[in-house]
Order: sequence, then C-alpha cells, then structure tokens
Amino acid sequence: MSTRNSQWSDSGTKQLNFGGGGGGGQAGRMEWVFGGALVVIIVGVIALLIYSQMGGSGPPVNTNPEIHLQCVNPQCGEVLVKMYKEFSEEDRQRLYAPTYPMPPGMEGPPRLKCEKCGAVMGRQVQCPYEDCKQWYLDPTELNYAAMDRVCPHCNRDSNAYWQQKQAEQQKK
Ligand SMILES: [Zn+2]
Ligand SMILES: [Zn+2]
Repeated sequence: MSTRNSQWSDSGTKQLNFGGGGGGGQAGRMEWVFGGALVVIIVGVIALLIYSQMGGSGPPVNTNPEIHLQCVNPQCGEVLVKMYKEFSEEDRQRLYAPTYPMPPGMEGPPRLKCEKCGAVMGRQVQCPYEDCKQWYLDPTELNYAAMDRVCPHCNRDSNAYWQQKQAEQQKK
C-alpha cells in the first residue's frame, strides 16, 4: 500500500511539474517551433539559391521595351522611337511583320508605314559596343539573308563583339 501511494504521489508531482508552466515540457515545445521555423527558412534560402543558379537571377522580361524603328528608304531614314505600350494593339502586330515578300497566305499584317514617305518602317538594332550604343537599321530589314552587323556609326561588327563575349565566358 505504501509503495502504491508513493507512485501515485510521484505521478502527481510529475503532472504538476508539466502543467505548472515554464517546465521542461513547454520549453521543449518552443524549441521545436523555433527549430521548425529555422528549417523552413533554410529550405527557403536553398531553394532561392538554386532558383538563382538556374537563371532565375537573369534580367526580368521587359513587357514594355523601347521600340526603335527606321524608315527603310535611305533617302528618308525617318526614325521613330516609342514605348511598346504606346502602340495600338493592331500596330503591335505589325511591328514584327516581315518586310520582304512572303508566300501567299503567310503575309500577315502589313508593316507600319513611314509617315513622311510611305515606305516600310524597319526595326533598328543597337550597337553593343559600350562606347557607341547607337541604333541603326537592322541589315536583315533590307536583305533577310544579310549576315553582317556592321554599325554605320563606328564601323564595328557586332558579331565580333558577341564572339569575343562568348570566348570570355568560356574562359571563366
Ligand atoms: Zn520614310
Ligand atoms: Zn557602333
């Protein structure tokens, strides 16, 4: 009888200790909560790192780029620079239509026309050299098979620039 009594009282005191607040039980639970939060944070950081490693850190897609157009008529050369969203829905479709003849049924919407002379407005490309960065008519707008990308402002070929950049990347 006496041993049973002590067992009861033992368990009673243990229960009191647990329920009494601030005891080992609650502290342990708090540690678990903190530990769980820490795991979530670490997993999140690792996921972010992997995401950025896989190209997620690249420049965000620009939904409203600056559009540079130039009249393909060399006697005119009118330049038009507008934000993409400044063009009407219909005109946006016409920005990328081919300037050269397409097979019947594949013509697509006609290109935008020059307001000054009525010729086609072609796309401009930007010279990649940091000390130039000038815009000029994309050579493929006059000849879709054109391979050279020589900037008329600095006379350098942007193909050479990108080849050099690629070579530098491979060295790293
Ligand atoms: Zn023109
Ligand atoms: Zn240039």
